[in-house]
Amino acid sequence: MKPIQMVDLIGQYQKIKPEVDAAMASVVDSAYFIGGPDVKAFEKELATYLNAGEVIACANGTDALQIALMALDLKPGDEVITTAFTFVATVEVVGLLGITPVFADVDPDTFLIDPEDVKRKITPRTKAIVPVHLFGQSADMEAIMALADEHGIHVVEDNAQAIGSDITWKDGSTRKAGTIGHIGTTSFFPSKNLGCFGDGGALFTNDAELAKRIRRVCNHGSEVRYYHDVLGVNSRLDSLQAAVLRVKLRHLNDYATARNKAAAYYDDAFKELPGLHIPARAAHSSHVFHQYTLRVLDGTRDGLKKHLEERHIPAMIYYPVPLHLQQAYRSERTPEGALPVTEMLTQEVLSLPMSTELDDEQLAHIVNAVRDFFNQPNN
Ligand SMILES: *Cc1c(COP(=O)(O)O)cnc(C)c1O
Repeated sequence: MKPIQMVDLIGQYQKIKPEVDAAMASVVDSAYFIGGPDVKAFEKELATYLNAGEVIACANGTDALQIALMALDLKPGDEVITTAFTFVATVEVVGLLGITPVFADVDPDTFLIDPEDVKRKITPRTKAIVPVHLFGQSADMEAIMALADEHGIHVVEDNAQAIGSDITWKDGSTRKAGTIGHIGTTSFFPSKNLGCFGDGGALFTNDAELAKRIRRVCNHGSEVRYYHDVLGVNSRLDSLQAAVLRVKLRHLNDYATARNKAAAYYDDAFKELPGLHIPARAAHSSHVFHQYTLRVLDGTRDGLKKHLEERHIPAMIYYPVPLHLQQAYRSERTPEGALPVTEMLTQEVLSLPMSTELDDEQLAHIVNAVRDFFNQPNN
């Protein structure tokens, strides 16, 4: 059996090596390392895939979030409502800009931000909502957009984990996650569903004026070279990364299919196990399984993790400490106990290996190790 990893990037590369190597060699031959045709072509191709008005590439997913808030002209004193059950970047950029993060709790089944709690947290200072499309499925954008429209608030979708997932509207139409709010952001960190060979990120918007503002912020606040209209940053995607991403974008739907196949295998083996909750599917969203995350009940999570690791099966806790209880983000407004579902989930969640390359032998080994922990016969 191949050794089991959380994510098998080497195996994934081997399958597309000739395509990727040729694309990278062509960039090196051209010496067009910054900007250039591959970045432009990738932005266009991703916009077409997402059916988004415009895609603006940048240096990483954290920058994309910061640039989004800067392009919307958010200022110190403004409030942004988001989740504490996410990767730190979502909240870090809010803090860096002197904006106040306000945390809404999440749904215990889907782990996604709870629109009812968002509604309760809206104040006259609320300027934006940042839903996170966690682990591969989209937050309830129809409910969030309704709130945002009602209160005149901007929405920035953190889509670092759910690129390609489809959101179904009540009228039956579907749209890609990340293309519904005023701005969507994503990350091309190597282990994300669409990952490059280093750092990368992007913003999406359907608003041409906002797209212009985003490009300006990315480029030192400048539209005409050496003239700087607003405060900006330096954030761009390397051409080599764009060349890799153009190849991998052509495989993204197959990657989602492979991830769903592994998830279905896990589901089948675990769905009747007492002591576990398999990941719930949100009714409004397809799942692209950035992570396959179980809830392990009755305080047995850490024991299961240890049991798996002793059998050379990696398992990860995303996320062990909710952001409102992190030293850097503590505030009187959100004391311990204020987000009961988020706090419970950090004690229960366990993510199993998930990648495009898991084979049946590896899956059977993982599944049997989990069943063994619960004293259940092999599947
Ligand atoms: C990975 C991730 C980011 C940050 O992306 P980087 O490219 O690592 O900066 C932001 N938000 C979420 C939810 C993520 O998973």
